[in-house]
Amino acid sequence: MRSRLAAALASAAWLICGACAPPSPPSVLLVTFDTTRHDALGFAGNEAARTPHLDALAARGLVFERAYASAGITLPSHTTLLTGLEPHAHGVRDNGRFALPSEEVTLAERLTEAGWESAAFVSAWVLAPAFGLDQGFSRYGAQVRATSSHPLDLGVAQRPGEEVTDAALSWLSGREGEDPFFLWVHYYDPHLPRTESALATEDPYLAEVEHADSELGRLLAGIDSLHPGRELLIAFTSDHGESFGAHGEATHALLAYDSTLHVPLLLAGPGLPRGVRSPVFARHVDLVPTLLARLGLPEHSGLPGRDLVTAAEATGALPSPIGWFESRSPSLSLGWAPLDGVRDARWKLTARPAPVELYDLRLDPNERDNVAAEHPGVVERLGRLHAERLAAETAATNRARRTHVPDETKERLATLGYVEAAGQWPSGQEPDPRRWARAHALVDVARGAAQQGRFDEAIAALEAMRHSPALRPLVLRTLAPLYRERGRFSEAAQAYIAYERLTGAREARWGLAETYLAEGRPERALNLFPAESGEDRAAALRARALSALGRHEDADRELEGHFKARLDGLRLRALLVLDAAPRPEDEEGLRLLLRAAPNDPELRATLGFWLAVWGGDSRSAEATTILRAARSDAVGSDAIGSDAVGAAAVLSHVGWGLHKLGFSDEAIAALEIAIAADPGRHLDRVRLGILLSEARQPARARALLEESVIARPAAAWAPAARRALTALDANPGDEHGEPG
Ligand SMILES: [Zn+2]
Repeated sequence: MRSRLAAALASAAWLICGACAPPSPPSVLLVTFDTTRHDALGFAGNEAARTPHLDALAARGLVFERAYASAGITLPSHTTLLTGLEPHAHGVRDNGRFALPSEEVTLAERLTEAGWESAAFVSAWVLAPAFGLDQGFSRYGAQVRATSSHPLDLGVAQRPGEEVTDAALSWLSGREGEDPFFLWVHYYDPHLPRTESALATEDPYLAEVEHADSELGRLLAGIDSLHPGRELLIAFTSDHGESFGAHGEATHALLAYDSTLHVPLLLAGPGLPRGVRSPVFARHVDLVPTLLARLGLPEHSGLPGRDLVTAAEATGALPSPIGWFESRSPSLSLGWAPLDGVRDARWKLTARPAPVELYDLRLDPNERDNVAAEHPGVVERLGRLHAERLAAETAATNRARRTHVPDETKERLATLGYVEAAGQWPSGQEPDPRRWARAHALVDVARGAAQQGRFDEAIAALEAMRHSPALRPLVLRTLAPLYRERGRFSEAAQAYIAYERLTGAREARWGLAETYLAEGRPERALNLFPAESGEDRAAALRARALSALGRHEDADRELEGHFKARLDGLRLRALLVLDAAPRPEDEEGLRLLLRAAPNDPELRATLGFWLAVWGGDSRSAEATTILRAARSDAVGSDAIGSDAVGAAAVLSHVGWGLHKLGFSDEAIAALEIAIAADPGRHLDRVRLGILLSEARQPARARALLEESVIARPAAAWAPAARRALTALDANPGDEHGEPG
């Protein structure tokens, strides 16, 4: 205790230096790479990986070589990182269906309260504000959307790293005052899908990790030039790894082996050891207590973690803490067995489902040799610790459950604990995810074929697997939207109904409602949900059905009743609609969202853009009016002065919409203002460059394209920009050149 206190005080010297002018405490930068294995980095010994920026941080920091995530899936894992709680305690067990309750306290809330200005920039919709990790951040940038339906398709399906870096640096440069900051930046690039640039390399996964590393380098250089000489405490980790076939698992979020749980973790900054590799057992729950201790802030009781720097510096053996791990997504969505267990510095026990697995990680880090039979004492000791944690989990999980649970289901849930997907198997006899991982990977292959447009091949492959009882829920869940996509509505409806019957999963009912809406049977969609269910998605679907039935006032009432004062939920819905690249049948949904949030300029510009894309005389006329009004609002008021980034996003939609409508000069003007307001809009620069080359302005076009390619040679859009430049080269000054 004494040495721990001394270490905390020493690291907090800036707070207790009485005689000197009080230097300000360090700012804090937390960087997470999605889906990044511990061994995907140069400093971890991977000779093929070119990650110079992380390697340099490792050389001047403290690396934890044995660090583990608690869950191999994005939202639960980040929730653990930011709360310091294991998933069974914070209750967020899966993407999409849980949100961190507001009564939980995040690292951002703790630091904001202590005087840090906090902001986060994330790049996956599973981390959208509606899922609760925005708590404590004064700015939470989560602008993610697919852009594949834009008129010039540059194939960007995720928010790429460069946009995240730009957004973070733009926030930093606009800050006023001298408070230290806490900045969390999340890079999604290493997660599937791969960019065109990455696919052109020998190792597309490593190429995306390297891309994230180059963006980290740009972020660090930007911070340095904006805050020269200011101290910065840096923490880097990933939310989980990627299995690449180990134990039969293709990607992550299915099993809980260390191929997905062993993560990189490093700290660098004031008061930290330099160039040290520590073998101590480190968990994601340790990050919050470690950072609080480094900053000289009080520990908070109730957190299971420990200060890792003290642990790394300790001489002599410390008692090993206990870490939790789990995989719940297959249980929640497929009715498969919940998989979880506990670990200490040496042993890892998968306690559920039977048979238990015990690995001696010192001898067998790849978990090949189950030694449960040889070490019954260890199994018993860890099994008891696992049971204690399980006993506490139900209340937390129900608190975090995002979707409203109808009354008739509540009773069933009570008898099952929290388990949502339950049906055909008695408790304890559910399919074991470990046994079915390889078959699960085959379903992924079929889904991949569908994503590439090979629907019939995908449907045939899935239909061949649907008779396996264990696979049936997964196959039905995957097949149903493919049938719908192909206009096979009755098969889609049957698949959703069967999926719901097997698992009770809510998304089955949402998908069924979407199917009825697509089929033009809104009355059926309406009857799937009770009025005022309290459930976001149900309210939105009911409103769409009411609207399709011509009952517009009822639709408005439904939305107002549900979404009033809940802009986050609304933004999430908007993001979900946009993420899926809306189709003409989503028009009513977009209009309804706008009616519920009439003052949201980006939503309005978005509607104008899509109306322009979908076309038709009346839509085009309305789109023109909406887009020009949005432009006046963005340019005419002080919007650009007060929220340049937001105004630029509006003008981007305006520009692309007007381009689609044939108003090229207005489109070019709007995009010029957008990139002037927010210089980080590189994608808009490239697209503007392509437009200008079409508009016979080759000099300006070339300047924009070259500048973008030089600034971001590995960006997802870089190949398209290069093609446009090549076309300009081939037809220099040719007024009829068709670039791209
Ligand atoms: Zn992730």
